[in-house]
Amino acid sequence: MQTRRLERLLATPPALRRTPQDTDPAAWSGRLRDVVERLARIDREPTTLTAAPAAESGGLWRQEITFRSPGRGPFAATLLAPPGDAPRPTVLVCGGRNAGLGKLTGAERPDHPDRNVAELLSHEGLTTLTLSYGVDGGLSTPGRAGRDEASLLAHAFAVTGRSLLGALTSDALGALEAIRSHPRVDGQRLAVFGHSLGAAVALHTALLAPRPLPLCTASHLGSYAVLYARLLTGHEGAVLPGILEYADLPDLYGAAGPAPLHVQYGTADPYLEADDAKAAAALIETSRAGYGEPAEIRELPMGHGSHVPKAARFLTRALSRPPVPPAGLPAQRLSFDAEERRAVLDRVDSALATGVLSQGPHTGDFEELTRTWTGTPGAAVSSGAAALEIALRIIDVRGRTVLVPVNTFFATAAAVVRAGGDVRFVDIELDGLGLDPGDLRTALDTHPDTAAVVPVHIGGLVSPALDDTLRLCRERGVPVVEDAAHAFGSRLGDRPAGAFGRFGAFSFFATKPATSGEGGLLTAPDDEDLERVRRWRDHGKSAHGSTLHDRPGSNWRISELHAAVGTVDVLRFADTLRDRQAAAVRYDELLGDLPGLRVQPVPGTCTSNYYKYLAHLDDPRRRTPLRRALRQRHGVSLAGEVYGELLCDHPYFADRTPHKAAGEFPRARWFADHHIALPLYPSLTPAEQARIADALRAELP
Ligand SMILES: *Cc1c(COP(=O)(O)O)cnc(C)c1O
Repeated sequence: MQTRRLERLLATPPALRRTPQDTDPAAWSGRLRDVVERLARIDREPTTLTAAPAAESGGLWRQEITFRSPGRGPFAATLLAPPGDAPRPTVLVCGGRNAGLGKLTGAERPDHPDRNVAELLSHEGLTTLTLSYGVDGGLSTPGRAGRDEASLLAHAFAVTGRSLLGALTSDALGALEAIRSHPRVDGQRLAVFGHSLGAAVALHTALLAPRPLPLCTASHLGSYAVLYARLLTGHEGAVLPGILEYADLPDLYGAAGPAPLHVQYGTADPYLEADDAKAAAALIETSRAGYGEPAEIRELPMGHGSHVPKAARFLTRALSRPPVPPAGLPAQRLSFDAEERRAVLDRVDSALATGVLSQGPHTGDFEELTRTWTGTPGAAVSSGAAALEIALRIIDVRGRTVLVPVNTFFATAAAVVRAGGDVRFVDIELDGLGLDPGDLRTALDTHPDTAAVVPVHIGGLVSPALDDTLRLCRERGVPVVEDAAHAFGSRLGDRPAGAFGRFGAFSFFATKPATSGEGGLLTAPDDEDLERVRRWRDHGKSAHGSTLHDRPGSNWRISELHAAVGTVDVLRFADTLRDRQAAAVRYDELLGDLPGLRVQPVPGTCTSNYYKYLAHLDDPRRRTPLRRALRQRHGVSLAGEVYGELLCDHPYFADRTPHKAAGEFPRARWFADHHIALPLYPSLTPAEQARIADALRAELP
C-alpha cells in the first residue's frame, strides 16, 4: 500500500521546527519565511488598481475594485468602509473556497450565518478588502467531469512547479500593497482575516508581507498529516507542496509572529480533529515563545465556520495599537529573491551533481556574462585583490615604482607591495575623483622607473580625468591597470570601466555592485595577457593541464559555487543598475536644496553605477555626530566612506612610504574629510529615501 509510504513520510519531523536552541524567535521566523517564499514562488509583480464609483448601501460605503497584475491579469475585489471619509484600519478578508465576493460582502444573501464576514467586520468600524479567488468557472474542459475546480487547479499548478496557494498569496500581497494608498485605507494599519482555504491564504500572506500583519483565522488548524492524509479534507490548494519537509501548519502560525495572532476552531468542525487541533495549538504557543504576547487560540462550539464578533474584537484591538515603528535602515542590503535563489541553487546543484567544483562551466558562463558589462574579455579569479596582484605580476613591477591614488582601498596599494613594487601615492582631482593630472605628471617625472599606474574608479565614478591618465601613460609607455572594483557597469562616454587600460580589475565581494560572495575578474583586451592571467591564477602552470610551473602563481581560482552566485547576480545586473540609478535620481531631487550638504555631481560624460551616492558636508566636524544622530534618532545608517583616511596615514604605509610633509594631497584630504555616502541599493524604496532625506534635514543645521 502506498499509504504506508505516505505515513512514513508524514511522520518525519519538519527540519525547521523551532527548538530550544533557537533563542532568537525573529531569526527562526525569518528562516522559515524564506523557505515559504521559495516554495510559494510568489510573483512579486506590481499590482495596479482601478476603482468603480462608490455607492452607499446597507449603511456601508461600497466600492468595486479591479486589480491587475501581469501574472493573473484583472481580478475583482470589493472594498467596504464604515461611514465617514477618514482612512481606517483595514482587513484583507480571505473567505472560504465556496464563498464568493457577493456572499462575503453582503451583496448576496449569506448561505451561512457567518458568511458575510466582510460586511460584519465593516459594521464594526473596519475597512475590508475582499478578493475574488477566481477558482470557479475558468475550467470548462471535458476532463473536469463534475469534479471540484479548486482541486483540479491545485493539481494543474503542480505541473508548473507552482501552487494554487502561491498564486492566491501572490494576488493578496499585490492587492495589499496596491490598496495601501486608497483614501479609505490606513496603509499603516493592515491585518488579514481568513476562513478555511482563506485562512491558509491569510496565513501565507501574513508570513510574506513586508511588515508584520495581525492575523486572524478560523477553521484551519491541525497538522498537515491529519488534515490531508487522515481526513482527506478537501483543503485542496491550502498547502504549499513540499512545506512539510521544513514546517507543519502550527510552525507556520508560530512564525507569523511577532504580530498578534488569533486562531479559531470549532469542536464540531468535520474537517479537523479536536485532539490534533489542540496539539497544534500547543505547538503554536511553543514556537511563539519570546514574542512577548501569547497567541489567542479559541476552541469554540461551532462547525466549519467563524466567530465574527470575536474576530472583530481581536482585529479592532490589534489594529488600534500604534503602528510598528519602521525597522532601521541599513547601510547595505543585499537580497536575492526566491526566484534568484532558486536559480543559484539550480546551478549549485548541477555543480554538485557533476562534481566539477572549480574551473568548470559556471566560471565560463560568469566570464562570458560579465563581458556584457566590461566590453573586454576577462578571467574570473578569487578576489579583486588577486586580480590586481596578477595584473601587476604580469607587468612585473618588482623593484619599480607603481603610482596609486592616495584615496583608495588598502587592497589597491597592498597588491603592489605583494607584487614587489614600490608604492608612490598621487593626489586626486575633485570633479571625478580620479588621479589628478598635474600631480600624476609630476610623479611620473620624479619616478622615471614607474612600472604601472593604477587609477581607481571611486564610488563608481569613471573620471573624465582618466583620459589624461591614459595620455600621460601612453606618452611614457607605462601600462595602466584600472582598479574597477567599484565600477562594474559604469562608463565614461560609451566605454565601460575595465576597458581602458592593459588590465581592468574587478571585485565581486559581497558589498560590491555585483557579487559572487567572494570573487574577482581581470579583464585584458590582449589575448596573450588573458592567457597569462589563466596561468597565474592556477599556480603558475606553464600551460593548461600542464604539471610544470614556470612562474610563482598561486591559487587565485574562483570556485564554481561562487561563479554560480556571480552568474545569477550578473544576469540581473541590468535591473540592478536601473534601480540604483533611479534611486540616485530620487536622491538628487530630495537633497538638492538641503542646507549644509552638497551632492557630489557626476560628470556629464560619466555613467555611474552609484556604488556610492556621495555628498559633501560644509562642515567636516559634523560627520561623526551626524552619523551617530542619524542612527540613534532615525534608525538610518550611512554607508561607509570611500575613504575616510588616506592610505599614507594607515600604519602600514605611514612607516613605508617616504615621510609626507603636512599639507600634502590637499584635494584627497579635503574629500576624505568632507564626504558622506548615503545608503543606496536596488531594494531601497522611495519612501525609505524620503525618510533618509527627512532625517538629514532634521539633523543638519
Ligand atoms: C574591494 C576592493 C578591492 C579588493 O577586492 P576584494 O575582492 O575584496 O579582494 C580592491 N580595490 C578596491 C578599490 C576595492 O574597493
